[in-house]
Amino acid sequence: MKNLLILGGTNDAAKLANNLAQYSNLKSIYSLAGRTQKPNLPSCDTRIGGFGGIEGLIDYLRDFKIDLVVDATHPFAITMSTNVTEACAKSNLPCIKFRRAPWPSNDQHWILASDYSDAAKKLSEMGKRIFLSIGTNKLNVFKNLSEKWFLIRTIEKPNSTLLLKNYKIILERGPFDKVHEHNLLMKFKIDVLVSKNSGGTIPAKLQASQDLGIPILMIKQPSPPKIEIAETLRDTLNWIERNI
Ligand code: NAP
Repeated sequence: MKNLLILGGTNDAAKLANNLAQYSNLKSIYSLAGRTQKPNLPSCDTRIGGFGGIEGLIDYLRDFKIDLVVDATHPFAITMSTNVTEACAKSNLPCIKFRRAPWPSNDQHWILASDYSDAAKKLSEMGKRIFLSIGTNKLNVFKNLSEKWFLIRTIEKPNSTLLLKNYKIILERGPFDKVHEHNLLMKFKIDVLVSKNSGGTIPAKLQASQDLGIPILMIKQPSPPKIEIAETLRDTLNWIERNI
């Protein structure tokens, strides 16, 4: 029996975990940071909470006799990805990152931002009513844009204090269709969409914004650490099969 640790927190990660019951010689543990109160939990064993940095993760891998690791965290969860890459290298364990390819930006009329700070800088020259569709972690990077108004969409109320001056939070869980997104953009008179290039299924908010002629400020994915990458569920399962 081999023990697999999956670093989760995405729909793809939960889907992967639910696909592993087919391997009778594999025990999977699904790990979450604990950011949401009602996470999407797969049917395997789960654990919740940080490990305590690289050293804490090395201890965990040893104590729980982990044989292999899949990092299926969001492409913007770069601290966790860096930590797991280093912890697995030091523990001599096989590790892969399951990450959908970023959406290609070549044919798009997107304005590209290299990171959150660059997005805040570029936004200062753009419209006034912003749909800041980037999750809740990095909203305060935009706190100095006091003349802007922000629409924030999140599943649960953010835990930390928001330092933005003018904003409205709406609580909704996706996926959303194009009509829904179109109506939302119209209702709040949005004139800029800020999005992260998360990869995977292209969300309807991009098409709806494009149809309405609303500029899209797209934040590039951070470069992943030097680690083997699988871009599909099938490739990830193939890697797991080779390593058990
Ligand atoms: P992060 O900045 O890369 O990680 C910060 C710390 O959170 C890590 O050092 C680790 O704490 C803990 N952590 C992160 N993912 C974890 C996991 N799967 N299991 C246990 N501990 C974890 O991460 P983040 O961007 O805050 O993302 C947190 C979670 O939300 C991840 O599971 C990610 O997949 C999910 N998520 C993130 C985004 C995004 O845009 N960043 C979007 C959708 C979902 P220790 O150092 O104590 O181990």
